[in-house]
Amino acid sequence: MDQSASAQTKCTRCGEPADPVVYKTIIDRAYDQVRKKKYVRQQSLPFCSEEHANHHQWSCEG
Ligand SMILES: [Zn+2]
Repeated sequence: MDQSASAQTKCTRCGEPADPVVYKTIIDRAYDQVRKKKYVRQQSLPFCSEEHANHHQWSCEG
């Protein structure tokens, strides 16, 4: 059994298994269902590379 297979973290950007995993804090805007307004959300997401992390951040900005 390959123990690492089941615990493989996938890149948020491309969906490929990330090795090593690069975590980056992504800032985007989400809708608060309770307060009924948008807010800035920060979340640490896994990526396969710094490049894909930057691409994802750009796609969140608008
Ligand atoms: Zn990727």
